[in-house]
Amino acid sequence: MTLAVLLIAGAPLVAQEREWPIHSMDRPRPPIVNPGPAGAPLPTPADAIVLFGGRDLAEWQSAEGPARWTLGDGFFEVAPRTGTLRTRRAFGDVQLHVEWAAPNPPSGAGQGRGNSGVFLMGYYEVQILDSYQNDTYADGQAASLYGQFPPLVNASRPPGEWQTYDIVFRQPRFNADGSLLRPARMTVLHNGVLVHDAVELQGRTAHMRRAGYQAHEDRRPLELQDHGDRVRFRNIWVRELPERP
Ligand code: MG
Repeated sequence: MTLAVLLIAGAPLVAQEREWPIHSMDRPRPPIVNPGPAGAPLPTPADAIVLFGGRDLAEWQSAEGPARWTLGDGFFEVAPRTGTLRTRRAFGDVQLHVEWAAPNPPSGAGQGRGNSGVFLMGYYEVQILDSYQNDTYADGQAASLYGQFPPLVNASRPPGEWQTYDIVFRQPRFNADGSLLRPARMTVLHNGVLVHDAVELQGRTAHMRRAGYQAHEDRRPLELQDHGDRVRFRNIWVRELPERP
């Protein structure tokens, strides 16, 4: 009823999205789209910065010091409870390519299955989760902008198979007094399938609450989340983008 009232006046779509309580189990799940089989690692463009090329974690660190996640043959894996990994470099507007795989065989359910995440600037999460035949709230499934926007479709591959995120991130801009000038914007493809089309974020990622925006630096590290699940990563590269006009 409330939703209908809001829509009468042609309220913008964002108002409709905000009508759902955070992590609502009633929010419809996106339709499932089979993205096809995993391919070879995507080639790296000439102007990209390689953040993981298969051999070492030199571009990464933990809050306390060196990266302590587990290095495998051409991949690395979350070492549970060793903490978030962050890049040594800091970034603003980027195109980011990440390949990941959820543990196989899967264990756990809902948010407890194959959970990790890519945090742009350390604040804005594209959720990593095993969302193949694993239900959770729509704004927390794989490729959701966690707590804010479900993906347009569920393009998940089964656990153990490599999946890709291609993310175009435009950082938020702040006025000199710290107020928001322009929200962050995110475009995301999951396994080559569009799941977010220049979506304007509502603020920083938070659990069970709407955090809104707080001003921050123009460049901050990218982060990968340690949520206790042994999610694997390979072939991570980033292209720095000029500020949009
Ligand atoms: Mg996560």
